[in-house]
Amino acid sequence: MKHVIVGNGPAGVIAAEIIRGRAPQDEIVLIGSENAPPYSRMAIPYLLMGNIQEPGTYLRKDPNHFQQLKIEQLHGKVSVIDSKSKKIVLEGQSEKPISFDRLLIASGSVPIQPPIPGMNLPGVHPCWTLEDARAIARVAKPGARVLQMGAGFIGCIILEALASQQVELTVVEMGDRMVPRMMTAVAGGMIKQWVQDKGVRVFTDTKVEAITQAGSALNVQLSNGKSLEVDLVISATGVRPNIDYLNTSGLQIDRGVLVNERMQTSVKDIYAAGDVTESIDFSTGTRIVNAIQPNAAEQARIAAINMTGGDAQTLGALQINVLDTLGLISSSFGLWSGAPGGDHVEVIDPIARKYLRLEFLGDVLIGATCVGLTEHIGVLRGLIQGKVALGSWKRVLMHHPIKAMEAYLARGQAQSTWMN
Ligand SMILES: Cc1cc2nc3c(=O)[nH]c(=O)nc-3n(C[C@H](O)[C@H](O)[C@H](O)COP(=O)(O)OP(=O)(O)OC[C@H]3O[C@@H](n4cnc5c(N)ncnc54)[C@H](O)[C@@H]3O)c2cc1C
Repeated sequence: MKHVIVGNGPAGVIAAEIIRGRAPQDEIVLIGSENAPPYSRMAIPYLLMGNIQEPGTYLRKDPNHFQQLKIEQLHGKVSVIDSKSKKIVLEGQSEKPISFDRLLIASGSVPIQPPIPGMNLPGVHPCWTLEDARAIARVAKPGARVLQMGAGFIGCIILEALASQQVELTVVEMGDRMVPRMMTAVAGGMIKQWVQDKGVRVFTDTKVEAITQAGSALNVQLSNGKSLEVDLVISATGVRPNIDYLNTSGLQIDRGVLVNERMQTSVKDIYAAGDVTESIDFSTGTRIVNAIQPNAAEQARIAAINMTGGDAQTLGALQINVLDTLGLISSSFGLWSGAPGGDHVEVIDPIARKYLRLEFLGDVLIGATCVGLTEHIGVLRGLIQGKVALGSWKRVLMHHPIKAMEAYLARGQAQSTWMN
């Protein structure tokens, strides 16, 4: 059996290793298009902070790791997948197609490039690859003027790394708050206040309208009438599944590659895992693109088991977002913005910078948002993922949401004992 894996990020690497563990005799080919050994994008902020060097981002530190596991690594960009003849082609190598018995698509996401004049100027970069990080690190020195477009999940993570380099940082977000697609209005507002207090200039409800060259600097025109001269623009305006090369593959694709609970695509023997997929949301049962690393790792595990004759299924992707923004920890879970017919409770302590909002449907906790509270993270996840019927504890939580731990001990534990 020959397994070919397109993409050598976390999903591709984890799948290759699990396949090897389960099928010692099978052939495994791991293909990556970037000029680096398999690495973790999550480590890029630490590289920008100077806490690690490039080898610190590598997913496996031993240079012989893949060779020892008899995982063949190929460098190249897959440009065609022919699902009928079970062959793939690397860019520029159409005369040498590679055959497969089972294929895993793990090609991740790509940054969205907003249609703004000047996005292609030198000095404007996304922050997605090691190559981007190298370009950013060359300019983001103490005192450099940096404008970051976008204050979403990845934007907030990069912001932390940039601020640590003592750059003069301005963040521009077109939403009405920071992390608008991941946190409630109160939480987004608290994060904005926190980073402003740390010396970062933040414009929300503001768009970048154009970027022009101004000598060796860049001039950035904002929708609020201001224009700023900066040395570097970082575009963190979101990512989308990396699917353009799959146009002729015959796979069912919407926003991402559609997979079922076994990570199977619409074509037999072709699986997909990680950021490239559009999978099933745990909370709603509808389709979701959940581009975070724990999701990629879990999907890779499930795909690898099924590719080697096992039977593994996901319960669905549960949205869990944990963010450290210049030391302020925030998190959101599940249906954090609530559901029709549901109710919620919210407590705010602006002085202590603590906030908790719980969303319920009936007596079940379906979502939550926290700022400045870390001790509840596991419990909230447990209550949501377990779909725990809270009974009378719902009323207690509506009055004292902070008692989530007691509710979990009373109801969550009881339920798991009963289920066992
Ligand atoms: C700065 C930054 C910080 C982040 N921080 C966090 C965090 O704190 N928590 C979190 O959960 N997530 C974080 N993420 C997101 C996380 O990195 C991704 O969810 C994760 O990398 C997804 O893994 P993947 O294997 O699906 O895709 P990727 O890591 O994107 O890997 C895909 C690989 O496929 C290769 N490839 C693509 N197309 C082809 C092709 N046609 N042929 C061959 N190879 C191809 C790519 O070059 C890449 O190496 C962060 C991302 C960035 C950029």
